[in-house]
Amino acid sequence: MLEVVRIPVLNDNYVWLLHDDASGQTVVVDPAVAEPVLEAAAARGWTIDQIWNTHWHGDHVGGNAAIKAATGCIITGPAAEAGKIGTLDRTVGEGDHVRIGDHVATVMAVPAHTAGHVAYHLAGDHIIFIGDTLFAMGCGRLFEGTAAQMFANMARLAALPDDTIVYCAHEYTLSNGRFALGIEPDNVALAQRVAAVEAARARGEATVPTSIGQERATNIFMRATDVTQLAARRAAKDAA
Ligand SMILES: [Zn+2]
Repeated sequence: MLEVVRIPVLNDNYVWLLHDDASGQTVVVDPAVAEPVLEAAAARGWTIDQIWNTHWHGDHVGGNAAIKAATGCIITGPAAEAGKIGTLDRTVGEGDHVRIGDHVATVMAVPAHTAGHVAYHLAGDHIIFIGDTLFAMGCGRLFEGTAAQMFANMARLAALPDDTIVYCAHEYTLSNGRFALGIEPDNVALAQRVAAVEAARARGEATVPTSIGQERATNIFMRATDVTQLAARRAAKDAA
């Protein structure tokens, strides 16, 4: 069994600590910072063996160097962004595999938020680490890519099993949900989810991870019927 620990850092980032009991291995996904991650691992008696980066933004790689200095871990990230992440030991792209113990993650290229953004999909464990591509009821901003690329990403993600647990990197759920309700006011599943998220946030609880099934029902970017509609929704959210 894999265990996933959520580490909230900075304003609204989540760093994910992934631990395989059988092998004793531990992976950190997108360490924005080092110290809280090292503390979270140490508190559990775990040693960090690897870092997996989804993209080059500072709030995803900022802890790389210090965690490597403390642990000697191996850092894997997107080949297309190796020039922007100075700390990579191994570069990967679409279809490559990375491992934690006997568990295999397949790398998916999901460009749009950044040009080389990748996701790590552990199909056997029904887990995907998606970085800033898909959020709970949202998607990443199109900083380096196009709406057509994001539309293609959404279609690929929507085709994963509904019970796939989606670990994204930010707590943007409430803002995304309120915006989405303006687009799909008659979506009952969406209205129910937003109400649940409002209550959870009022209690100070995290609303991530999410699942592919939940997103298929309530994510207006995954539910966009064509590129033009996704582009319009993304532009409207950017301006909101
Ligand atoms: Zn980002």
